[in-house]
Amino acid sequence: MITHPSTILKKIYPSLVWNIPTKKKELFLTFDDGPTPIVTESLLDLLAKYNAKATFFCIGENVSKYPSIFNRILAEDHSIGNHTFNHLNGWKTKTLDYLHNAFQFGEYYKTELFRPPYGKIKASQIKGLKGGYKIIMWSVLSMDFHPRYSKEKCLETCTKEIKSGDIIVFHDSLKAKNKMLFCVERILEKYQNDFEFNSIDLSD
Ligand SMILES: [Zn+2]
Repeated sequence: MITHPSTILKKIYPSLVWNIPTKKKELFLTFDDGPTPIVTESLLDLLAKYNAKATFFCIGENVSKYPSIFNRILAEDHSIGNHTFNHLNGWKTKTLDYLHNAFQFGEYYKTELFRPPYGKIKASQIKGLKGGYKIIMWSVLSMDFHPRYSKEKCLETCTKEIKSGDIIVFHDSLKAKNKMLFCVERILEKYQNDFEFNSIDLSD
């Protein structure tokens, strides 16, 4: 698993967003797979405590199940990204089916941010989404979903080369909950005076 994508990978897919060029000192925390009851709510409490903004790549199905948590994310000024309606693996899905599922999310909420589940997406799918979406990858993968990574190892993975403009991936899912909350709290605490924590906004 690639926690820090190489320059080669970035050159193969130059149209994807791998970090946010910035002159400020800022980090972009991102959370995939929610909203999830309790998990997303605990996370929102934590972000609010540090006045940090983040980006949530939601699964459409979860948005339809938990509209009040989704509305809380919006009300607290975080950004929303499309993570397909049913968390499809692009490599295993026909392009038309994939695009249909992504656009199904668009019926719930209009956003220009998209992140492919598992980071797996075909060139034809990238092309199909290009008109409406910017595809947001990452510069740091926390590995919070991985059974062999302890919470300490996840934190080390996140922080060892941390730099301004980094896009860090976590999961507000049941599986990742404990490791994710552990890492996010420590990152907010450790870097609160060094970095702003901002949501991704590429609208200009
Ligand atoms: Zn996902």
